[in-house]
Amino acid sequence: MKNDSAMKLLVLPGDGIGPEIVDQTLRVVNWFTENAGLTIEIDYGLAGGASIDDCGVPLSDEVFAKAKASDAVLFGAVGGPKWDALPRASRPEMGILRLRKGLDLYANLRPAISFSALLGASALRPEIVRDLDILIVRESTAGVYFGEPRGIVTSADGARAATDTQAYHENEIKRVCEVAFELARARNSRVCSVDKANVMETGALWRAVTTEFGNQNPDIELSHMYADNCAMQLVRAPKQFDVIVTDNLFGDILSDQAAALTGSLGLLPSATIAHGAAGQKFGVYEPIHGSAPDIAGKGIANPIATILSFAMCLRISLDASREAALLEEAVRLALSGGIRTPDIAAPGEKTVSSAGMTDAILSRLNDLSLKREA
Ligand code: NAD
Repeated sequence: MKNDSAMKLLVLPGDGIGPEIVDQTLRVVNWFTENAGLTIEIDYGLAGGASIDDCGVPLSDEVFAKAKASDAVLFGAVGGPKWDALPRASRPEMGILRLRKGLDLYANLRPAISFSALLGASALRPEIVRDLDILIVRESTAGVYFGEPRGIVTSADGARAATDTQAYHENEIKRVCEVAFELARARNSRVCSVDKANVMETGALWRAVTTEFGNQNPDIELSHMYADNCAMQLVRAPKQFDVIVTDNLFGDILSDQAAALTGSLGLLPSATIAHGAAGQKFGVYEPIHGSAPDIAGKGIANPIATILSFAMCLRISLDASREAALLEEAVRLALSGGIRTPDIAAPGEKTVSSAGMTDAILSRLNDLSLKREA
């Protein structure tokens, strides 16, 4: 870690399996405060359906203010059948959108990592996904999901027409490039920028700005690819990529596609970040999956996606890369040791509970830290 001051972590467990997987992750957070010299001050808040039940909104002003005052947020998952009938604007999922938009978290990071112990879970052949490690950096506060004008109008003859607007300012492109390039520096120093510069004005601007940025940062090997080709290359030869940087819409689609390559919803973390003052990076860290109401309350949810989200938090918001790598290694070892929650077990394989998986990860953390000390 860069400095010794306590890091403020706001924990928003949410709904369904959210509180279960967050509880398990907090056992891991405690391990790091007790064994790795990290000082983390934890505060809690309600989000999603739990917040709607408590105060009528998916994220209260009070919780938003707490998030703003913290260094990072660990988010579980929100939503569930109880709130499905609510209008879109007041649904549980709006809680996370309020955080992203309100805190200007413009870079959504989605790693797609394959675990060798689980290669059989991918729909692709093992040799195509073995050792896969891609990071998709998606612009997340602009583009077609936010552009104006938008809406559906009905003309005099009763026919409806819909409009969305894809718009980008060059600063919005540049700042997400900065994040992608910086993260690439800690990986294999390659960034592939994905756009539709051949048919879209925003694509042409995207390519011009990323090219200029690449020229100013020659330590990173920058390439460009059209989004349709990228979708094809992700299933044909995904290992050619290191970091992919792209706009909101393409990033939404391509990051789901990349995640599916690994075949493991319960294993994949995410971060949504922004550069703060003095270079600190505030981030919201959360699993890519939802609240899984079908298994909530059973104690069998896989906590790994949330635990690996905390590893991203260690690396990005706490500048604790060594500790992040230790945690990622402990997860890898637990999986290669055959520990399985039901979602990743092959038929007939022995399974453990959420707590059992966390026990296995904590035990590997103890072994690894003893080895380091020896
Ligand atoms: P989901 O991701 O919750 O579940 C899909 C399937 O994957 C289910 O069978 C579930 O049991 C399984 N699954 C998911 N996470 C798992 C884990 N950690 N361990 C084991 N199995 C796991 O998606 P869904 O069913 O489409 O959505 C359920 C609710 O979650 C909805 O209300 C949806 O709106 C919400 N949602 C929230 C977020 C979020 O909070 N960021 C994201 C996606 C969906």
